[in-house]
Amino acid sequence: MDIRTVAVIGAGTMGAGIAQICAQTGWKTHLHDAFPEGLERGMERIHAFWDKGIARGKTTENQKSEWSANLHPTNSLEDAVCEADLVIEAVPEIMDLKREIFQRIDAAAPAHAILGSNTSGLPIGEIAEVTTRPQSVIGMHFFNPVPLMALLELIQHDGTSDETIEAARSIAEHLDKTSILVRDVPGFATSRLGVVLGNEAIRMLADGVASASDIDTAMRLGYRHPMGPLELTDLVGLDVRRDILNNLAKAFDDTRYLPHPLLNQLVEDGELGKKTGRGIYDWSKGEKSDRDHNL
Ligand code: NAD
Repeated sequence: MDIRTVAVIGAGTMGAGIAQICAQTGWKTHLHDAFPEGLERGMERIHAFWDKGIARGKTTENQKSEWSANLHPTNSLEDAVCEADLVIEAVPEIMDLKREIFQRIDAAAPAHAILGSNTSGLPIGEIAEVTTRPQSVIGMHFFNPVPLMALLELIQHDGTSDETIEAARSIAEHLDKTSILVRDVPGFATSRLGVVLGNEAIRMLADGVASASDIDTAMRLGYRHPMGPLELTDLVGLDVRRDILNNLAKAFDDTRYLPHPLLNQLVEDGELGKKTGRGIYDWSKGEKSDRDHNL
């Protein structure tokens, strides 16, 4: 399938990154957010990434203006998707919201468009069933930060067509990502393992087993993980990880997946990780440092 135009719905951490790489690879890219400040933040993030590339000599001014010309921000979802060959949704991890967005995408996007969701773990089948074209709906799970992470996890629900899977694999190739194909089970392959490790690391921190930085160092040096599970939780966002755990607990009907009380507390306090300056670590001085969690 020939992709020329893409729409990305939601301009947050993930949507901005996805729109960025689509624009960089020559696709006309519409970026939509329901909130003007969300759209502005997303565009700023993309431009900051490109400016950093220029400062480091990795990107030229010409490239930046070519990529910028491919990127079209809009506050209208319908304008964003009406000419899209591919739509990728990246709104918050809330099933009702994703279903509502997919109904609107389905009503406005061309009949041939592939509809992808960047959900970290919600059932793709439940999202697809609100559309008139479940065969064209597929999970397209990118990783943070999108421009740097090599994996694209594709999730096929029972009704995803072979053509859609084939198209999604080519999209991954075009975006220079390695794709894996996973069945539509809660948490897929990556999120389930990732959040369980992160939640257990938070339990160990709360139990006083070791400091956050020592727990992270244990996994980096002892298991060759490029980043410790607590630092990764701060990078992904504590709210995002808490939501995934709650969804897994519900889907498997298993309390083992419930977020640890410390994770719930931090989210309630608005301490969501790097994006808010504090989470498991204190990021307020730019670098991460251990903090007291008053346990
Ligand atoms: P985010 O909170 O950074 O961004 C979400 C964006 O969606 C915000 O800009 C918000 O204004 C916008 N939005 C909210 N309601 C909207 C609506 N009705 N219409 C259009 N836009 C709307 O979240 P994120 O971290 O980018 O996560 C988005 C999705 O990607 C979630 O499903 C999440 O689970 C998944 N995901 C996140 C990560 C990660 O590391 N953060 C990694 C992989 C997948």
